[in-house]
Amino acid sequence: MDDAPRRRHPVTRPVVGFVGLGNMGGALAGNLVRSGFELVAHDTAGPARTPLGARWSPSPADLARAADTVVLSLPDGTVCADVVRQLATARGRRVTHIVDTSTVGVTAARSLAGVRGLSYVDAPVSGGVAGARKRTLMVMYAGTDDACAHVEPVLAGLSDRRRRVGDRPGQAQALKLANNFLSATALAATSEAVAFARSAGLDMETVLDVLNASSGRSAATADKFPAEVLTGRYASGFSNALMAKDVHLYGREAAGLGTATTLAEVTRAVWEAFAEAEPGADFTRIYPFTRGSGEAS
Ligand code: NAD
Repeated sequence: MDDAPRRRHPVTRPVVGFVGLGNMGGALAGNLVRSGFELVAHDTAGPARTPLGARWSPSPADLARAADTVVLSLPDGTVCADVVRQLATARGRRVTHIVDTSTVGVTAARSLAGVRGLSYVDAPVSGGVAGARKRTLMVMYAGTDDACAHVEPVLAGLSDRRRRVGDRPGQAQALKLANNFLSATALAATSEAVAFARSAGLDMETVLDVLNASSGRSAATADKFPAEVLTGRYASGFSNALMAKDVHLYGREAAGLGTATTLAEVTRAVWEAFAEAEPGADFTRIYPFTRGSGEAS
């Protein structure tokens, strides 16, 4: 038996950088601070949404010199590519790993994983801003064994629900796009179905109660409609522009892989029309948009 005195190793946690403090990023950055990480954050919109306990950084280059791992929560693949390029080329950089929680699509994730000198973990999320705050958000991630092992403590700081889905960046994006295609289609279809039932004289609460105990149940009927539409809140924190981007990416990637896109075409057209008609609206406003009346219930 080993009776040598046990050495105490101080637990050293990496300094984490965060770029993109929007609806989702603000919540995730807050989770990292509450998990005990030293956090340095940047957003082109300024320091206003820097979580309490985190330090503001004026640029990606400055952040690259301060942090070991940088988490991204940015609008799309083009913005991520620009930020990752600035991180990779920063003089005297300390950053070695990127955890990308943005929805960027398969092609963009593969290209970001190819940036020299940085290990990239593709880690999109699902469950909304409310789920991020409750730590029930699903973080699906893909990357090499070494990269995933290295960033695991950071992923654990983001959410209590995580699943490694593959060893190649882009695989988590494929799953995220499949998820959002389902989510977008279900919410658009539920909007049509509820509008139909309301037109027949039924009240929305009854419609949702019965659907949720029947085979038409989905995250749209069980969560989005009761929380955002029935209450008239329409404040989920996810914009119609981002959902339009996701279904566009899904259709493009599915067409590239040669899988069916019949429904994807319809879903894409519905979300594109909504995003064009009401730029920046919460995505749950698809119900009044579909109903064509603008009323809450
Ligand atoms: P958002 O528009 O609220 O926030 C994006 C943030 O990025 C903004 O604060 C913006 O100022 C910042 N930004 C833009 N360009 C930048 C740059 N070059 N450098 C630094 N900061 C920059 O978007 P969001 O809802 O927080 O979504 C972020 C990502 O997460 C998107 O890819 C989205 O698809 C994904 N996502 C969001 C949700 C959600 O519920 N909001 C859910 C799942 C996935």
